[in-house]
Amino acid sequence: MRFDILTLFPELIDNVLGESIIGRAQRAQIISVFTHNIRDYTTNKHKKVDDAPYGGGKGMLMATQPICDCFDAVKAMQGEGKTRVIYMSPRGRIFNHSIAKELSEYDNLTILCGHYEGIDQRVIDEIVDEEISIGDYVLTGGELPACIVVDAVSRLIDGVLSDEACHEDESIASGLLEYPQYTRPPVFRGKGVPEVLLSGHHQNIDEWRLERSLELTKERRPDLYDAYIEAHPPKPEKKKRAKRITND
Ligand code: SAM
Repeated sequence: MRFDILTLFPELIDNVLGESIIGRAQRAQIISVFTHNIRDYTTNKHKKVDDAPYGGGKGMLMATQPICDCFDAVKAMQGEGKTRVIYMSPRGRIFNHSIAKELSEYDNLTILCGHYEGIDQRVIDEIVDEEISIGDYVLTGGELPACIVVDAVSRLIDGVLSDEACHEDESIASGLLEYPQYTRPPVFRGKGVPEVLLSGHHQNIDEWRLERSLELTKERRPDLYDAYIEAHPPKPEKKKRAKRITND
């Protein structure tokens, strides 16, 4: 999968996505992430990329010409396949696991990062398929949101994580929040590890983990809990699989 990120601050993104698992996936050519500096495309002799908004108001807006010329150049670089263009924006659909899954089906994902007061609406109307927000708060730029989208989408692509089961087992993707996990030593500052995890009895461990996941999800995310219980009604012969947690 190919990601193209249009930004005024490419180094910010290169530094974040060049490290760890996503950096390794790029070096292994499982994904590719290209950043494009919008400023390189401005025809303004002072390299200006923004201007004051019509109608007045505070701040500056990113102007049409550099972004659209940058976008045309990027389009010419992309290969065949399914393409989607998203603009990181607090006005967008709130990002979550199912959107990450949707986006992982594309061959080319182009991400536009705004800055200052945002972007001239005509750019959005002309090139953007969808605006996506990473939450109900406002950041100074779209670069960190873009990194979050690339990271979450990349983890779902075959070969990016060492073990395919990794992302299916995790909080949210599994439909539940993850159970508590422990590693060595068996006692740390007087605190031990639940006995069952040391037992080597896989069925008991699985049951313990499911119960802890159900408890935690019911307490912290009742919305997820109800959806999970509806999708996994308790089976009479295997009551423990999705036993509804009661409060008494
Ligand atoms: N004036 C804009 C508004 O009220 O919708 C906010 C502009 S914000 C200061 C600058 C840029 O940061 C935006 O163009 C967007 O790319 C990015 N941004 C800020 N908050 C974001 C969020 N919650 N999700 C995604 N992108 C965000």
